[in-house]
Amino acid sequence: MTTTVEAAVLTATCSRTHRPFGIRVQRTAPREWSMTWSFRIEPGVAGREGYADAQTLSGRFVWGSDYPGCPHCQTRSLYQCSCKRLACHDGEVSQTCPVCGTQVQLEGTVETISALSDH
Ligand SMILES: [Zn+2]
Ligand SMILES: [Zn+2]
Repeated sequence: MTTTVEAAVLTATCSRTHRPFGIRVQRTAPREWSMTWSFRIEPGVAGREGYADAQTLSGRFVWGSDYPGCPHCQTRSLYQCSCKRLACHDGEVSQTCPVCGTQVQLEGTVETISALSDH
């Protein structure tokens, strides 16, 4: 095994409380990332603490067995809005993005997640 261990922290927003949280992901294969942990972020901190590098992590995202779900509402599912933000979702097909207010129709799983900064 010559896999390089790489990890990143993505930022997401809880669709119920509209509060931000971080998701730690770890590369488990060349095009696969496993979500390993989540934690609350104080509003306004996300852009400053280095959580949100403007890198794009492409590949498949899998939920690690220890991933605790959204730290605000415990929902394990996530989706990505057209504004590139991640948000937790409660299983409904139709979601309203907590960041930009866009109505999102969910289809399939998240294939690409962009870790975006606030600027
Ligand atoms: Zn949530
Ligand atoms: Zn949005």
